[in-house]
Amino acid sequence: METCQTKTYQIDDLQVIPEKQGADHYVKISYPFRYGRFSEIKSGNYTFQFNLNGEIKSIQGRGIGWLDAAEWLKRTAGNDWVYFAAGGYTGAFDFTGEYYVPCLPYDSNGIFGHNRFDSPEVTGAFELWDNLRLRLNDLETSRLPAAVADFVQRVVDMDDEALDLRAQMLHDIIGGPVSVLPPDTRHVEYDVIPLNIADGCLYNCGFCRVKSGHGFKLRKKGDINQQLHDLRDLYNKDLSNYHSLFLGQHDALFAGADLIEFAAIQAFEVLEFDRSFMKAPKLFLFGSVDALLRAEDTLFARINALPFESFINIGLESADPETLKQIEKPLSRDKILQAFNKMMDVNRRFPKVEVTANFLYGADLPDTHLPSILELTRNSLPHFHSKGAIYLSPLENIGPIPEVKTRFFDLKSLCRLPVFFYLIQRL
Ligand code: SF4
Repeated sequence: METCQTKTYQIDDLQVIPEKQGADHYVKISYPFRYGRFSEIKSGNYTFQFNLNGEIKSIQGRGIGWLDAAEWLKRTAGNDWVYFAAGGYTGAFDFTGEYYVPCLPYDSNGIFGHNRFDSPEVTGAFELWDNLRLRLNDLETSRLPAAVADFVQRVVDMDDEALDLRAQMLHDIIGGPVSVLPPDTRHVEYDVIPLNIADGCLYNCGFCRVKSGHGFKLRKKGDINQQLHDLRDLYNKDLSNYHSLFLGQHDALFAGADLIEFAAIQAFEVLEFDRSFMKAPKLFLFGSVDALLRAEDTLFARINALPFESFINIGLESADPETLKQIEKPLSRDKILQAFNKMMDVNRRFPKVEVTANFLYGADLPDTHLPSILELTRNSLPHFHSKGAIYLSPLENIGPIPEVKTRFFDLKSLCRLPVFFYLIQRL
């Protein structure tokens, strides 16, 4: 697990490492850890890391001028910067299942951390990044070793315009931005390649802020193949740092066994996951209650046989009829109960498949909502199960934070399944 580095080159005050290796497995660890293969430049108190295409990947400071040596900034393939926060509050792991909370510049995980993007430290780090780029641009590379000169050129080529363009290309390939990733993608630090096998969803629920507003529609196999080949070209050299796939959009489970299996196997081959530096590939998808209920054993057997560990996240939202009515989710309590029981059954019988569930959390929901979650996750289970995480998905108004924490821990201590808050992240 040790980070392994090759050669370091000193260019004035810059320490340049064109090739460096982090861990090849994602781990849950309470200090900053890097994964995959990357390049690095150290300048003063700051470390800048780059993916194999030369795109800036992370910025981390230490000492004076930085917030916390255990925290860092990471850029996503969708060209969002995410601040990975660790300190300042306790119990991040209890709340989220992770030691770090990704805080985004848009409204997202505000319960857990402050928006750091307005802080002088983060603003200063971005200014240093701009300065470093200017220096690299002016660097006389002809006398540098080829590995360093090539790396510097890659970084110079990936200017703001190129990074914007690449994010736009990603969205164009799959047919739009990923408005939300499944909560389970936290297991791979949200490092997934998105592939859309269907668009829209079945219910178009009133409360939902991420819906496309369109009905459910399958993609054709030719379209899926085209996306994969374009994605392979786009990720290019950095493809070897990926081994996990998100099958979108909001209800890939409803696409059925044939299309899921086709897309997963094609992706494994075209995106060369078997040759990835990262080990233990993972597959993530969302599913609706109806998709779960209509799925036969053969579907789960086929997913279980894929060369992935798979996570299927189902939006149950509530088992309380009054809440379902209020949030305008067109499902009955009976269907929610059936879906929950099926989730537990699949989790028992298919070792490489984990079905997880989302329930809403909000201050304006009826008093009968949280007890309805407990009825399923405590009263219907004779003992604790480690498989089948329950995610609480925060609505806009969650109420006072101290109250949220108390209610969360009350629920968590009573539930017989792991319970976490859903950390919303787009791509
Ligand atoms: S919660 Fe799921 S099913 Fe409902 S509108 Fe949003 S994406 Fe569609």
